[in-house]
Amino acid sequence: MISLEMGKIRAEAIGEVQEAVDIADFCVGLSRQLYGLTMHSERPRHRMYEQWHPLGTVGVITAFNFPVAVWSWNAMVAATCGNAIVWKPSLQTPLVSIALNNLVRRVMSEQDIFQPDDGDPADVFTLVIGTDETVGQAMTDDRRLPLISATGSCRMGRHVGQAVAGRLGRCLLELGGNNAMIVTAEANLDLATRAAVFGAVGTAGQRCTTTRRLIVHRDVADDVVGRLSSAYAQVAIGDPLNDETLMGPLISRDAIERMKQAIETAVEQGGEVICGGVEGIERHAERRGYFVEPTIIRVPPGTDLPVAREETFAPILYVFEFEQLDDAIAMHNSVDQGLSSAIMTDSLREAEMFLSHAGSDCGIANVNIGTSGAEIGGAFGGEKDTGGGRESGSDAWKNYMRRQTCTINWGDQLPLAQGISFDA
Ligand code: NAD
Repeated sequence: MISLEMGKIRAEAIGEVQEAVDIADFCVGLSRQLYGLTMHSERPRHRMYEQWHPLGTVGVITAFNFPVAVWSWNAMVAATCGNAIVWKPSLQTPLVSIALNNLVRRVMSEQDIFQPDDGDPADVFTLVIGTDETVGQAMTDDRRLPLISATGSCRMGRHVGQAVAGRLGRCLLELGGNNAMIVTAEANLDLATRAAVFGAVGTAGQRCTTTRRLIVHRDVADDVVGRLSSAYAQVAIGDPLNDETLMGPLISRDAIERMKQAIETAVEQGGEVICGGVEGIERHAERRGYFVEPTIIRVPPGTDLPVAREETFAPILYVFEFEQLDDAIAMHNSVDQGLSSAIMTDSLREAEMFLSHAGSDCGIANVNIGTSGAEIGGAFGGEKDTGGGRESGSDAWKNYMRRQTCTINWGDQLPLAQGISFDA
């Protein structure tokens, strides 16, 4: 159903469902680990500790490209923390959302966990399908939803962030990326090529973590571009349910139009189309479905390519060159988004430089792994215009709870903090 509705290939769709299963497993363990700290009180015979309570009902707004996984990261963890969930999925993937919500409601209704007066356990998970203006705005404006977790474009995040801040609510934003991979002269180029192809072509370039920029050392740039062009020529494009297919269609005709415009702009700005391009789009124009060819655009050294600073949600890979690692890192960090990043190198010094405070400014930083394909065990999210939110594993659960600091006086005196004397 994911492949039919959203267009990603079957293997990736199965991976996405596996991600939902994995986070459900993770949450079983997490339910026993919603820890608070205890601290020593500065006052005698006092005990101080913190505990975590549910927020109540959490609003979850999701993007089209991961119709199962993104909801799962949010809803499973939020429910484990004791919340109910109101879910607004993308209007581009309503069927998957209905199927998933029905599945989890069925599981919940089989649980004997609520007292009769508590209502139907299935209602922990609810779904509302509607437009941004109706359902979306109603959710962002509603004080009964103390947290809105929203995944989508930076444009959406600006609307949602402002609306929720306007009522002093909490937001968890997971927004667009413009992810780069640095390939140094010390890299294993087989590994780098495979990682770049999966990162740039996987899900037809429609992952928030898609590799959009490749920053390659001058000494290996021709070699890398040659390897990538050969690999791109092998990518089978077509029916996402066919096991041979590596790249399915884009989500809509508008998405093709945006890809075409980005390529034309890149060429105007000095980029050179290595493969794919507008011709690659036209080669598929007569097909049913929104098929395109993955595109590589090489950027001549010293050329500024402003279009590469935007996230075009399509399989376009911009290839830049560098000489010094410092310059590569500066190019890497020069975009507004800060989601995922990677360096391919066998040099410990280069890898540690990339991971240092002076290195990647992203929420995710990888060495000898591509930018996409995160594991659920870590906290997922990004900095800058990506919104700063963290979801999924690690201690991301804290976003779905409210912290309470409790102090208990078990003595018979009333000493004040900071030693203040206030005797009447
Ligand atoms: P989108 O911004 O068009 O829509 C995302 C969701 O927000 C949809 O449910 C939409 O209906 C809703 N929405 C839009 N405007 C709204 C508003 N004003 N008020 C309330 N709701 C509103 O994004 P899309 O095209 O579905 O998905 C692609 C984008 O999502 C890309 O930018 C991608 O990078 C990003 N994304 C980010 C992550 C992440 O974890 N950082 C994950 C997946 C996708």
